[in-house]
Amino acid sequence: MSQPERSGNACLNTTDLVVAYGTTRVVEQLDLSVPSGKLTAFVGPNGSGKSTILRALAGLLAPTDGTILLDGRSIDQLSTRAMAQRIGVLSQGPVAPQGLSVLDLVRQGRYPHRPLFSRWTEKDTAACDEALEQTGMTALRERRIDHLSGGQKQRAWIAMTLAQETPVLLLDEPTTFLDLAHQIDLMELAANLVRNLNKTVVAVLHDLNQAARYADHMIMLKDGRVIAAGPPEEIVTADIVRAVFQVDSMIIPDPVTQTPLCIPIPKRP
Ligand code: ADP
Repeated sequence: MSQPERSGNACLNTTDLVVAYGTTRVVEQLDLSVPSGKLTAFVGPNGSGKSTILRALAGLLAPTDGTILLDGRSIDQLSTRAMAQRIGVLSQGPVAPQGLSVLDLVRQGRYPHRPLFSRWTEKDTAACDEALEQTGMTALRERRIDHLSGGQKQRAWIAMTLAQETPVLLLDEPTTFLDLAHQIDLMELAANLVRNLNKTVVAVLHDLNQAARYADHMIMLKDGRVIAAGPPEEIVTADIVRAVFQVDSMIIPDPVTQTPLCIPIPKRP
């Protein structure tokens, strides 16, 4: 089984990280590395701590113990604005105020880059236009968020985080509630952000096979601990799937992408 690695050039690292809600510790002594310029997927059963870790990495949840380093610097030392210039976050099921348009939402992504009372600049406009273009939302820019489909809404929120122009994007279950075509669109978009813009993207994903298909790096979590980390070809094995999900499976090459494809075996065929 691969061990959680401590790589020196990772964009985000945690060491001995402990995160608790009240007195309940849900992340224990966690060491993980998110490599820069790659798509990393967090995978694991419900309640394994994926969202909690993502929120801690984003600086939205203060750890009880341990350190989180962003490019070698403790995130404790970064102001809220400095964090927002480096890390964009898409939480689960975000809700926009009633009546807000797509463009209004996307413009909010520029706040970390704008000093107090400063004027809106051409650079801000260009960043919003670019974000709308990358997410295929240009034609819908004037549409109210509450009048969009689930897939369009998700793209609008991603456009907002792209307008933020951060090198790191953390996406919490970005494909949940989307139909298959929109799930594929979204994963392609995430992969393109890595390939074309060299972003570091972390996505919490439910679907192991989708993660294996799109991620460069996977981190398998259980009970707030890393069970395995590495490229999908190395860590999507029947042993690791059993250890993480308590499911017997066959792993075969995906006939389209050659990435590992997990076929669960029912307990009583
Ligand atoms: P995952 O994303 O893997 O489903 P979570 O990080 O959401 O897991 O949850 C990890 C554990 O923390 C679960 O036991 C969950 O019940 C608990 N938890 C999550 N959010 C809260 C919260 N706001 N308050 C208390 N416990 C929470």
